[in-house]
Amino acid sequence: MPVLLEAENLARSFTLGRKGLFRPARQFNAVDGVSLSVNRGETLGIVGESGCGKSTLSRLLLGLLPPSQGSVMLDGAETTDVTPEEWRRLRQRMQLVFQDAAGSLDPRLTIRAQVEEPLRIHGLPLEMADTALDAVGLGGAMSARYPHEMSGGQLQRVIIARALVMKPEFLVLDEPVSALDVSIQAQIVNLLRDLQRELGLTYVFVSHDLGIVRHVSDRVAVMYLGRIVETAPKAEFYAKPLHPYSQLLLNSVPVPDPTRRKRARIVPGDPPNPADPPSGCRFHPRCPLATKLCREQAPELRDFGGRQAACHMIETARVAPKRAAVPTP
Ligand code: SF4
Ligand code: MG
Repeated sequence: MPVLLEAENLARSFTLGRKGLFRPARQFNAVDGVSLSVNRGETLGIVGESGCGKSTLSRLLLGLLPPSQGSVMLDGAETTDVTPEEWRRLRQRMQLVFQDAAGSLDPRLTIRAQVEEPLRIHGLPLEMADTALDAVGLGGAMSARYPHEMSGGQLQRVIIARALVMKPEFLVLDEPVSALDVSIQAQIVNLLRDLQRELGLTYVFVSHDLGIVRHVSDRVAVMYLGRIVETAPKAEFYAKPLHPYSQLLLNSVPVPDPTRRKRARIVPGDPPNPADPPSGCRFHPRCPLATKLCREQAPELRDFGGRQAACHMIETARVAPKRAAVPTP
């Protein structure tokens, strides 16, 4: 499969705290040297705990946030440092669907008007809205409704229609079903899969939910504190994760998260602080295999026969001997 999107050494820093006489502002990298490629027509799942930089990476891939370093190519063309005209054309080809995007809908406008909005901005025929609304099952009379007349699942369909209306090739789906009830999640995930097949779309699917990622992805990338620590074809990843963090993530038991309507997997150890990453391997304070080398030297992402992992100890040890068990939704 040919490569559609390629990111090279992407980084993005943010400033923490206000600069003052006695309190200098601190810089930290939310995304720190990420390289990845996405093949045309595939779904790359990106997993990791909250705060690992998944959403920042999503926005960097789409050029919605300028990188501090690195570049993104779409179909062989540079997407960073482009003219406003080139950028308009690129924006049509790449779209973002984010968590709770339904909150961004205008309560005073009908569903149809909201899906037409990007067409108006880009001066395209408004009839294109019909195709997008039909594709998500909200055509006809449904499209005359207002947001308050629709369910959470229907609103997420509106968001998907609005992303599709410009006929993009590449979509980043950042936790696209996390805000929905579990019973609705499967419907939306299946809709996304059908649309991918029918329209030949390419997806990056960002999620903390390993079960959903298993269901939708062709390949999986695992992020930890701003870096990718493992990438692999889906089947190999779920059967035999290489990185200790991936192993702990897959073997952890989902527990109900009282702050959200979902279950989160808990990996032992202190939650990572992206503003103050540990020395060497960033996972070392939580890793049962950590050695002196791990504390001192950051491991490179290395190839292991069609997959990659960043860990000094891959060849020597296993954290979790038992096979990972993640249910498919
Ligand atoms: Fe653990 Fe060391 Fe591998 Fe990091 S490099 S994951 S600390 S074994
Ligand atoms: Mg996020």
